[in-house]
Amino acid sequence: MTTVARRGVCLVISAPSGAGKSTIANALRAGDSSLVHSVSVTTRSPRPGEKEGVHYHFRSMEQFREMAAQGELLEWAEVFGRGYGTPRAPVEAALASGRDMVFDIDWQGHRLLRAALPDDVVSLFVLPPSMKELDRRLRSRASDAESEIDKRMGAALAEISHWSEFDHVIINEELDRAVREAQSILIAARLKTRRQHGLAALMTEYEAHLTI
Ligand code: ADP
Ligand code: 5GP
Repeated sequence: MTTVARRGVCLVISAPSGAGKSTIANALRAGDSSLVHSVSVTTRSPRPGEKEGVHYHFRSMEQFREMAAQGELLEWAEVFGRGYGTPRAPVEAALASGRDMVFDIDWQGHRLLRAALPDDVVSLFVLPPSMKELDRRLRSRASDAESEIDKRMGAALAEISHWSEFDHVIINEELDRAVREAQSILIAARLKTRRQHGLAALMTEYEAHLTI
């Protein structure tokens, strides 16, 4: 198969908590083993089933601030009173070697990441079909305490108010459809002319064929 060297895509998926961005990101990765999840650093405690280094790097606030001060985080923000940030080194390595990364970060992270990597970020905002359904989904994730759910529900409209900053918006009503839409966005991003820097070499091969 003819492969063209290209830079990786930073696919940012944001949504109000509970709208389904982790579910969509997991489905994307399940269907494409080359897709790398950007594992964020957080100061919140692990939920049941969450593993260190897989879902998050769980750190103390002191360690988190030290990482930020040393420039080890590409972007960071405080969300729900906790620190969240994106480690820099894995992102730079993945992009340079043409691997695509999925980022499950909030609107602040999206803004900062876009400013840091303007040519690499493609962003997707996930909306719930209704606020009633968002409330139901947050409650269905039984691991969060009632007060935590109320806090997240209260913050949902503020998060949603940033929808227009994103390149694409999808409504996650029927999951299969939402996943297909997210896959289409990723495929189109991979095929952007400016991302496929290896096309110049392919043109040289075409020309060489004619001059033989
Ligand atoms: P987020 O990562 O945005 O906080 P999750 O992916 O954890 O949200 O989803 C929240 C809950 O909603 C989970 O229990 C998940 O299984 C469920 N969910 C996600 N998408 C759908 C959908 N399209 N229809 C019904 N339930 C969904
Ligand atoms: P949760 O605690 O539910 O895993 O995540 C809470 C919020 O933090 C979500 O909106 C999620 O997108 C955001 N978040 C997770 N990782 C990062 C990160 O590295 N940077 C930023 N800015 N937000 C993040």
